[in-house]
Formats: sequence, C-alpha cells, structure tokens
Amino acid sequence: MIEIIIKCNFIVLIKEIFLHMKNILTIVFTFLFAITGYEQQKNASPSFQIIPLGIQGGLDESNLSAYMIAAGGSNNYICLDAGTIYAGLKKINNSKLFPGSSTDDIQKKNIKAYFISHAHLDHVAGLILNSPNDLAKPIYALPSVLDILKNNYFTWKSWANFGSDGDKPILNKYSYQPLTAGIEINIPNTELNVTPFVLSHVKPYESTAFLVGNKNNYVLYLGDTGADAVEQSRQLDKLWTAIAGIIKAGQLKAIFIEVSFDNSIPDKSLFGHLTPRLWMQEMLALNKHCDGLLKYTPIYITHIKPCSNCEVNIKKELTTANTIGLTILYPSQGKPIELK
Ligand SMILES: [Zn+2]
Ligand SMILES: [Zn+2]
Repeated sequence: MIEIIIKCNFIVLIKEIFLHMKNILTIVFTFLFAITGYEQQKNASPSFQIIPLGIQGGLDESNLSAYMIAAGGSNNYICLDAGTIYAGLKKINNSKLFPGSSTDDIQKKNIKAYFISHAHLDHVAGLILNSPNDLAKPIYALPSVLDILKNNYFTWKSWANFGSDGDKPILNKYSYQPLTAGIEINIPNTELNVTPFVLSHVKPYESTAFLVGNKNNYVLYLGDTGADAVEQSRQLDKLWTAIAGIIKAGQLKAIFIEVSFDNSIPDKSLFGHLTPRLWMQEMLALNKHCDGLLKYTPIYITHIKPCSNCEVNIKKELTTANTIGLTILYPSQGKPIELK
C-alpha cells in the first residue's frame, strides 16, 4: 500500500516538474525570441539612404533641388534632379559616408545615374556645370525632358555637347535614356528600380515623379507640379491611385513633394507649383485613396522658393493645414536621411 502511494506521488512529482519545465522553457524561449527580434530590428539596415545636395526652388544657386538616393547600406546612388551638385557634395561629411573620397570622387563614382524630373535650370544647372568633371553615365528622363537637354543645353551654343545625341561633335559622356510613364526599370550598377509618372507643370509642360524601389520598399519623389484643380489635369490623381496600394501595405517609406509658395500667391501666379492650401487638397485626395493611412508615411517638403518670410510662412501654413496628423518634415542640404 505504502509502495503504491510513494509510486503515485512520484508520478505526480514528475508530472509537476514536467509541467513547470514546459512553462520555464516557454518563458526562456519567448525571452530569447524577443531579444533576437529586437537585435534584428536594431541592426536592420535602412531601406534607403538619401543625401539632399540642394533643397530650394530658386534664388540660391548653391542650394537647388538635387537628392542622392541609394538602397540602405549601399554606396551606389542615383541623383534625383541635379540643380546643385558640387556645393551640396562639399557640405556632406565625406569621411563618414564615403571614407577616403573627395567631393570629385563622389560625383564621379558614387552617382551612377541622373533622373531629371524636368529641364528647368533649378533642376539641371549642377549637372550641366559639373559635366566636364563627371564620368560617363546615363541620364534618365521622359523624352520631352531629354529633348530640352539635347536641343537647348548640350548644344555647343549653351554648353559643350556631353550628350549622346544632337549637335555634332557628340562627346557621348551622358547617354540619354528615355523613360516611359508607368514602366518600371532596373538601374544598372545600383540596387534600385524606378517607375516614372508624368506631372503637369503648367500644361502642357511635363514634369516627372519618380517612384524609387529597393525590393519591397519605396520612396516617391515629385518634381515640380501644380495641383490638379489649377492645372485642369488628372496627373496627380493618377499618381495617387497608382501608389495607394504601397501606402496601405506600409511599403512607402517617404514622399518628397514640393510646396513652392505660401498661400498669399493667387492660383494664376503659381506657374505650376503648390501652396500649403493646394498641397493639403492633394494630400486629402491621396489619404482617401489609401483609406486614411497616409499619416504613417513621412512627407518631406521640398522646393520652397526663398523670400524674406516665405519659409516661415509656408511652415506655419502647412502646420495649420495639416488636420489629419501627417508627419511633415524638411530636408537639410548635406544632411543624410535614413529611412527604415
Ligand atoms: Zn523648380
Ligand atoms: Zn520647374
């Protein structure tokens, strides 16, 4: 009898130990998983690295629209617009981002291609002026934009013809690569792909938005654009429709969009640009397309046209207009942006 009781107690004891072991192991494994997950998240390389070489929409020729962008952890950049190159490169901390590289080296070796949204001088001046110093590489743009480079700048009259077409002799340093709206292409020598979208910048003049992809992550950069309502256009609406899905999937890591003037400028004097009021109209439209999820995508404001009080006014008006909790940010020249 005693023997049976001891045996029973022994079995109960083993069962208890086993049950506790199970709980202890569950706790230990949960803890380990949490730690590893945290470490992985902490060490996860950013999806993109962006270096603003110039951020303004006019006046200061040393700080005009140009953004280098690469996949996180890569030094293979493309340059979105090229208003300012040299002055922007001088501002970045070469020793940290490009160890051992001079300003010259970075333009030559780390910029693998240019993407030009449109051919207004504040988007191409840096490219043209620094072309003698550059190495051979492609310029990607819509055909209408490449035509302006070919027929108005690289002509031997405005500047030597560093292009791959047009007035002879053709120096063939920059190969013109025409883009087709809505068609994604892989960019050689980088980890990136790009899909262009047409924008209206005083009808019928075309500007471009570039959707830059690195695997399943994206950044949207818009060149100069007017609002659909002012331009009597549907180009922005088409763009918002096209990108709504990646916002809903949490894959759009940032939007770079212009706001050139403050609200005091009447629509007829905007010349294809946005004000805080018109920007908000467009953001509300986009937010509707993505079921109210736009607040999870940071929005960088670009291309402010300098005047005595414009920057202060625009920032104030954007804050007031932002009734839906969007994250509004401002790039700084030479200051890298890491997107997770
Ligand atoms: Zn511009
Ligand atoms: Zn423009």
